[in-house]
Amino acid sequence: SVHGKGSGVWGLRNILSNQEIQLFKSNISHIQEQELESLIQNASDEDINRTLSNFDHSGSIELKQTFRKIRKVSRKTVQYLKEIYNYSCQICGVNHQHPYGVNVVEAHHIEYFSISLNHQPSNIVILCPTHHRLVHAGKAIFDRDKKVFRYINGFEEPLKINKHL
Ligand SMILES: [Zn+2]
Ligand SMILES: [Zn+2]
Repeated sequence: SVHGKGSGVWGLRNILSNQEIQLFKSNISHIQEQELESLIQNASDEDINRTLSNFDHSGSIELKQTFRKIRKVSRKTVQYLKEIYNYSCQICGVNHQHPYGVNVVEAHHIEYFSISLNHQPSNIVILCPTHHRLVHAGKAIFDRDKKVFRYINGFEEPLKINKHL
């Protein structure tokens, strides 16, 4: 169904038609969640075209347009959150701005974006690349009440910085 889990709360409904949502959802099942997050946050048009050409044959132009729309909106939200945290990881607090002079934090979706299409700030946590990989590899689930990530082995890791969850 187009109206899957999380419908009504996603922030993309107002910019996407039902047809675009259906097209997007039926195609992203080919992409791993973290790759999808990377695609909507960091990928160039070329990256998107290359990825989509691997598996999409019908309606690919519409799918690319849908990706571009999602990316445009998602970048605004992510940029807003990264600035709130001054480009620091919410778990470990690390900020690579000093001494490297670059920002490498990433947005992670608490309810997987591929399922929820929820790109509201309340569904996003800002993580360093290492914690982002650990959260995915360790199948960590965010406990909203305790504000901890619980990994599949039972380890619980609290947020060091939290201003919006
Ligand atoms: Zn971290
Ligand atoms: Zn993620």
